Amino acid sequence: MKTDIDRKLRDFIGAKTAKSFSEVLGIETVGELLRHYPRRYLKKGELTPFDELEIGDQATVSGRVKKVTVRSLDSKQEIRPDDVQKFRRHKTITKVVVTDGRNDLELAFFNQPWLVNKLTPGTAALFWGEVTRFRDIMQLKGPGTEILDEEDLSEEEIERRAKPFRPLYPASAKLPTATIERSIKIVLDNLEDVDDPIPELILRKERLIGLREALQKVHLPETEKDWEVAQKRFRFEEALVMQTILAQRRAVTDALKAVPRERTAGGLLDEFDARLPFKLTAGQAEVGDEIFADLARPHPMHRLLQGEVGSGKTVVALRAMLSVVDAGGQAALLAPTEVLATQHHKTLTKMLGELAEQGMLGGAEQATRVGLLTGSLNAAARRTAMLDAASGAAGIVVGTHALLEDKVQFAGLGLVVVDEQHRFGVEQRAALSQKSGDATPHTLVMTATPIPRTVAMTVFGDLAVSTLTELPAGRSPIMSSVVPALEKPNWLDRAWVRVREEVGKGHQAYVVCPRIGDEVKNAADEEGDFAAGADDEDETKGKPRPAISVLQVAEVLESTLGDLRVEILHGRLPADEKDSVMSRFAAGEIDVLIATTVIEVGVDVPNASTMVVMDADRFGISQLHQLRGRVGRGRVPGLCLLVTYAWGGSKSMGRLEAVAATTDGFELSRIDLETRREGDVLGVAQSGRRSSLKLLSVLRDEEIILTARHVANSLISVDAELAEYPVLRSFVRSALESEATDYLEKT
Ligand code: ADP
Ligand code: MG
Repeated sequence: MKTDIDRKLRDFIGAKTAKSFSEVLGIETVGELLRHYPRRYLKKGELTPFDELEIGDQATVSGRVKKVTVRSLDSKQEIRPDDVQKFRRHKTITKVVVTDGRNDLELAFFNQPWLVNKLTPGTAALFWGEVTRFRDIMQLKGPGTEILDEEDLSEEEIERRAKPFRPLYPASAKLPTATIERSIKIVLDNLEDVDDPIPELILRKERLIGLREALQKVHLPETEKDWEVAQKRFRFEEALVMQTILAQRRAVTDALKAVPRERTAGGLLDEFDARLPFKLTAGQAEVGDEIFADLARPHPMHRLLQGEVGSGKTVVALRAMLSVVDAGGQAALLAPTEVLATQHHKTLTKMLGELAEQGMLGGAEQATRVGLLTGSLNAAARRTAMLDAASGAAGIVVGTHALLEDKVQFAGLGLVVVDEQHRFGVEQRAALSQKSGDATPHTLVMTATPIPRTVAMTVFGDLAVSTLTELPAGRSPIMSSVVPALEKPNWLDRAWVRVREEVGKGHQAYVVCPRIGDEVKNAADEEGDFAAGADDEDETKGKPRPAISVLQVAEVLESTLGDLRVEILHGRLPADEKDSVMSRFAAGEIDVLIATTVIEVGVDVPNASTMVVMDADRFGISQLHQLRGRVGRGRVPGLCLLVTYAWGGSKSMGRLEAVAATTDGFELSRIDLETRREGDVLGVAQSGRRSSLKLLSVLRDEEIILTARHVANSLISVDAELAEYPVLRSFVRSALESEATDYLEKT
């Protein structure tokens, strides 16, 4: 389907500009250019001659600068243009007198002293804002400005630029928004027909405007309403393409086969339930039943289990695994780190007791085995683990990505449980799914980072979601505080005093650092206390300070907490040493553990009451939430101290304050998503590739997404191949080629 929008940009605009589009924005075709939507719109007033201005008007004027001065509001002194840099952070007023040739008008700008060097006498510009009066002088207060080049001074160009809505494009110095605007106008003026991916019938039913009209209105709006209806249409279009892909995927998954694993009575699961030292929470029992029902179907389960840190997901997963073993299958539990895999292995073995001692003296009659497979096993242990997996002797195999290697075979893999999905690559999950021959294994993904409903719907399609909302009884609350080490240095000292007090009460503490610090030592970097060089966005002088490291803290605490039993733990320690440190910490033989994020997930030491996170602003919101979940797991109230060298009022500080203010994971994941770009949701922003979601917000546009989903379902149910809708089909195809949907593909 060749239409105008597939034409090369250079057929319409100058070769040099076309080249810039290609280099700066990766835009080659007319279609791509037209989908480069404005970032926002400049709102201006009506272009008004000076002598017709009225107090209270929202107006735009065109004039030339006659005089400009800037003074400090504190000292009332005039500031010389060469000195403005020094007054960047002072209160200043810049007064500009502009003229239209006959009359003068005064403009007042606050706290923008640098304007004195931009709006030099003779400069022609547009100014817009509210007309006010100051001591009988008519003024524009804090107006918007757009400097005009001499060649822009035709009446027509000024009229065009003064239009009430001007699109502002994502742009760069090399390709300014005015150039983009001009190019788009040329293209739109020459564009004949465009094929609309949204079927006519749906446009009418959903009261959406057609593509041609929408392009005009999104790029060259006359009114606010214009770009609103245009954006609405494009959002729907994005949602429809996305949901069509998901609907097609669902049709495919619905056709996939899985071995049904029906729950059987009198097996391991019943034995296990009978031995549980506590009563399942209502949520745990309910989610268990949902899972058992899924497992009994001849199609693969694809379920997300979300629940706060400590909500007891492991028991739920273990019960699912046991039920699969009872039904003659095997289960694999995939953990993101070796420490966590080892922990899980220990926990499961302990919880199962003699139920995991198949073939051993004292093992229960119908017992199974729990295998462990990680990268650092010695050859013999590895061979045994692989043999147990391949022969089926191990009903449950716990492991890291080592489980995904081709050599690892299973006798009958029926269920894959993935712990803490956010740390786990999509490809890796896909690889594990391929391990069970013709039938696809059931999958259960556990996460403590809840995913808002619309994101789950957008990114994961029909992934079923189970949520554990209540915490098991006997949990203690966690108190969190930010320790602003730069502004309140003595708070950090107090933090160590708190750690000492907690240890004095018989509790234990974690100190978490973003870095190990065993790189080749750079004396200048490592010397002195942590404070050397704060690193906030605009305060950075020269090189930012490297993050505080485990080894650094160990050295500092030597003098403050030297009499306590302090140890370190990080990923580059030998495996047996890691194990030994973890088990001694669990046994209460270590008071303070200085660690990297190896402890982030799953580590369960109820006696640990306190966590100090160093350079907390270097961690993500959800990561902090995870980390914090390591304390307050027993009857002791938890305390989490977020140490930061960020300035008060900075973005980093804002994020930390949000984390300190709530332990509600849903709230935090919302904040997290809001502070990131939408593209990140689909995991594409880092790659710099273009996302197929440009205007659609998975958080804000829930209603649009729901409608689009409904529409997509009905389209696909009657016409799975979209034979009747070739335009939509080609949009779907190109979205599938983008990386965003790579993600969908493998999920
Ligand atoms: P998470 O959801 O963070 O993975 P875990 O499964 O590790 O949580 O559970 C945290 C702790 O709570 C474990 O020590 C576990 O044995 C315990 N636990 C789980 N379910 C219950 C329950 N119903 N009653 C009491 N304790 C429970
Ligand atoms: Mg867990």
